[in-house]
Amino acid sequence: MCTLCSSPAIISLKRDGTRLCQDHFISYFEAKVEETLLSGGMIAEKERIAVAVSGGKDSTALLFCLYRLLSGREVELVAITVDEGIAGYRDDTIQAAKAIARQLGVKQHMVSFREEYGQSLDRMVVGRHVAPCTYCGVFRKHALNRAARALGADKIATGHNLDDEAQTVMMNYLKGDLERLMRLRPRRAQKGLVPRIKPLRMMPEKEIALYCMVNGIFFQSRECPYASLSLRAEVRDMMNALEGQFPGTKLSTVQGFERIAEVDQARWPQIDLAACKKCGEPCVEEICKACQLLQEIK
Ligand code: SF4
Ligand SMILES: [Zn+2]
Ligand SMILES: [Zn+2]
Repeated sequence: MCTLCSSPAIISLKRDGTRLCQDHFISYFEAKVEETLLSGGMIAEKERIAVAVSGGKDSTALLFCLYRLLSGREVELVAITVDEGIAGYRDDTIQAAKAIARQLGVKQHMVSFREEYGQSLDRMVVGRHVAPCTYCGVFRKHALNRAARALGADKIATGHNLDDEAQTVMMNYLKGDLERLMRLRPRRAQKGLVPRIKPLRMMPEKEIALYCMVNGIFFQSRECPYASLSLRAEVRDMMNALEGQFPGTKLSTVQGFERIAEVDQARWPQIDLAACKKCGEPCVEEICKACQLLQEIK
């Protein structure tokens, strides 16, 4: 039974044991996302928000939830879908992304690695020792920023959830990469770089899947064939095992990092980005990471 009414419960929240029926779960979920939006000052009136929609559950739930939370406000949503070119996987998720954009009447813009970089991810990684996710991550960020800027977007919203955030913190701890860790925190605006927001960063993956189900949102649940080759996959399994045994581990990993970052951030001043000498995208070195990888590939 729901803790707040007499309807049957569909979930018991691990963090405090509260049981919620379908309606109260939807209200709870949307209130939590709204709290994240407000506390991070993520979206202002009259802004155009580019939502990165792959068609997986996180980005699909993100577009749906933002659409509901922002209706009645003067905020415009546009969807950007990146086709990396992953055979047997991306085509299906693109169909799901198209379906949710059509259902909500949100304009969708497609960007593909083939058009942007001359080849698909599948082709880029043939015979290379670098993990496919490295190429994918670098080019996806590059393509998204270019597309969002061309669309005049004020922010890029991505579907990263609590599980992703906890994994990212843990991966960087394991690699000892403090600088990269500190870059996870919101930073001041940089010329040419569309600021990124993560409205689902405090929502566990399981609650996002349930939110999609109870709202009848179609998404693709198939996993990318390259996912198992990454360090992230190992860390994900480890964090899931820990969470099963010690509920709240993912949340405390993220919150613990936030506290460390507040104390230590001054030691990691933000570098001013310059324009890449080849493509003009903002970057730390003379040539951006995407152009460096492109050179290697060619
Ligand atoms: S798992 Fe790796 S290769 Fe697959 S979509 Fe994600 S980042 Fe790209
Ligand atoms: Zn209820
Ligand atoms: Zn470049």
